[in-house]
Amino acid sequence: MPIRVLDPQVVSRIAAGEVVERPASVVKELVENSLDAGSSQISIEVRGGGVSLIRVMDNGSGIPSGEVELAFDQYATSKISSLDDLESISSLGFRGEALPSIAAVAQVDIATRAAGESVGTYLSLQDGVVVNRESHGRSQGTTVTVKGLFRKVPARLKFLKSLVTENSHIANVVSRYALAFPEVKFALFIDGRAVLTTPGSGRLIDSIIEVYGLEVAQNMLEIEDRGWEGGTAISSVLVTGMVGSPRISRSSRDYLSLFVNRRWTSSRWLAWAVEEAYHGLLMAGKHPVAIINLSLPPKEVDVNIHPTKSEVKFQNEHAVFGAVQKAVRQTLIRLMPVPKIEEVATAYGVPSVPRQELAVSAEAEGIVTPSPLLAPQTPAVTLPALRILGQLSSSYIIAEGPDGLYLIDQHAAHERILFERLKAQRLRQEVEVQGLLQPVIFEVNPRQEEVLKAQCENLAQFGFSIEPFGERTFLVRAVPALLANKDWTEMVRELLDSGGERGDWGERIAISIACHSAVKAGQVLTDDEMRELVRQLEQITTPHTCPHGRPTMIRLSLGQLRNEFGRR
Ligand code: ADP
Ligand code: MG
Repeated sequence: MPIRVLDPQVVSRIAAGEVVERPASVVKELVENSLDAGSSQISIEVRGGGVSLIRVMDNGSGIPSGEVELAFDQYATSKISSLDDLESISSLGFRGEALPSIAAVAQVDIATRAAGESVGTYLSLQDGVVVNRESHGRSQGTTVTVKGLFRKVPARLKFLKSLVTENSHIANVVSRYALAFPEVKFALFIDGRAVLTTPGSGRLIDSIIEVYGLEVAQNMLEIEDRGWEGGTAISSVLVTGMVGSPRISRSSRDYLSLFVNRRWTSSRWLAWAVEEAYHGLLMAGKHPVAIINLSLPPKEVDVNIHPTKSEVKFQNEHAVFGAVQKAVRQTLIRLMPVPKIEEVATAYGVPSVPRQELAVSAEAEGIVTPSPLLAPQTPAVTLPALRILGQLSSSYIIAEGPDGLYLIDQHAAHERILFERLKAQRLRQEVEVQGLLQPVIFEVNPRQEEVLKAQCENLAQFGFSIEPFGERTFLVRAVPALLANKDWTEMVRELLDSGGERGDWGERIAISIACHSAVKAGQVLTDDEMRELVRQLEQITTPHTCPHGRPTMIRLSLGQLRNEFGRR
């Protein structure tokens, strides 16, 4: 075939393929347009997985009557006008591709009225060509209706998944934007059902309640970005949003939402920065819930990487990575509260006193902070010095702090201490090892054998000397000193059965050793032992959770006590 310039219709359909991959991409582009138009209310209606119908209605600026047709021309946009503008984009759209791309693969109607116009415009397009235009009475704003998506692109249609899958992609897109724009009232209807509505209060927590529910919302911590503290701004990035406490971690990465100047981005690399900040706070295989927005001068970020605009590139990647990691880590360490009595009571289904009766003064309610006098001696900044009062049920240490009563779970606390010690020792390659008097023969099943072979090296770093000794048999010559008098065979078996390639095995092994060597519940401790355990806990930067993410302690503040006893 000779070389020919493609027919414009073919060109627009090829281009459409890049922007409109599936129904959720249409929703994303239309919602972005509504947001760029400054809408405070956006309603999205979907039928048949988005293939039959997608309708997005907003109360934004609207499109002036004379420009409606233009909006459907390829590369027609009101958002940038010059090469310079491309350098610093502050709107979500700018490529002028969405409306023409959608019109190339579906039937599109638009009804719009711009501010200052007395009557609106209605336009209907088929195969990208205007087939009807009318004046139209409506309130200010825009409604775009998309029908029969991909009807003329069977190849695309074939690649779509089930209705449920397409609907969930759509709900996902709307949820992310609801989290990024808490000041906008979103409503999503799927096949007539209200799936998501947000109040548009401007408070992120209200959107979180609607998207993730109350339980998650109650465990979110507001990010305190101290990037500028100490006078040395590491970058011009400001990190805001909320991060979930480790106890509401999830087994999928889908609960992390990252926005760059409120644009939803899927950056694996930024996601990694967040996960890094949770290091040592989450169980292996668990991921955080977090909503994070990076604000930085538009000049420092390039959003023009990909037609869907979901990828971004930073001028100073290292600074951004560091800023995110630091802001999240600081928030977790400073704000992770010692759970209060009533929360624990609710968590375990114990009927608790009505909330208002427990309401305490802001001061008493405050987060645990160290006494300023103690701070210089103790590097730990998260736990005040505690005085031991006794042991409860051979399982919990009762202690007094400057701000109230502490109940410490001796097993969980000891686990945390040992876990931190093992991590530090491994880093210095100084794990204490106990040689066995006689090598022990250790038999495993085929599955365990595979995992053990793969993890021998990792286990060696923690003091296990294990070598193959015939079929499904290994010879163990040394174990970590911490496990010398414990049932280490059970520990290794459990670890091997936890299986899988995934997760940080070094961390899994450390958690497992810590768990098996820590004091157990039901073990009577002497005063000295309790004092030593608490002293070691005070030295740790993350004393509030065990390495599995469960709380190590609960606190009853003096304020709560006064309230309970009805005194001021
Ligand atoms: P882009 O968003 O990249 O500019 P689009 O094809 O998505 O390109 O939209 C083209 C133009 O149509 C926009 O620049 C904007 O001026 C106008 N427009 C589209 N949707 C809306 C809307 N909901 N409200 C107001 N104007 C809109
Ligand atoms: Mg757009």
